[in-house]
Amino acid sequence: MTRSVRTNGAGAFANRHKPRPVGCFECDGTVEVSYAAKMAKCPECGAEINLNDYEINKPLQEDIATRGNVTINKLGELECESLICQNLKAYGNLKAHVHAGGDVMIRSRAIISGGLRCQRLMIGRDAAVDVLGDVEVKELEIDGVITAEAFRCDGTTRIDEHGAINGPLKTKAVSMEDGGALNGALEIASTPR
Ligand SMILES: [Zn+2]
Repeated sequence: MTRSVRTNGAGAFANRHKPRPVGCFECDGTVEVSYAAKMAKCPECGAEINLNDYEINKPLQEDIATRGNVTINKLGELECESLICQNLKAYGNLKAHVHAGGDVMIRSRAIISGGLRCQRLMIGRDAAVDVLGDVEVKELEIDGVITAEAFRCDGTTRIDEHGAINGPLKTKAVSMEDGGALNGALEIASTPR
């Protein structure tokens, strides 16, 4: 795998701390926030926008709405109606409707209702994920088992040695390792949506 490497350390540091736009939960308003901010106020409606990161280390039954990141650790577990966050990492089990603005990585047992939309979706080895609805993403990296009604990927779908996609897949490009499985119709389209 090729990665782009920044040789200018100061540049990478500056970029990581760059303000980012976040969306209001109540309206269409957005606001730029600094990397360290924990809370912001919507300029349109005045609602508070939660920016906290969450780390879940024990079973939790509670909705989460943040523009920060959520990590469910191995001893953690999240079962709720609605999980809204930027990036999500799940090492513990998850059962929720998930709306992630960034990347989602799942390395556990997960049941996701209402479809799944995110930037990059990574399903780790030994993960088993059921999506009730469609998966719509920019990049797919699958090394576990994922089932959905349909998959749409704007970029490349990678199915690794232990990966299996159960459901029809529409993608721009696909790469598959020996052992990887696709159980569903495959359509290669330059504009999958
Ligand atoms: Zn607002």
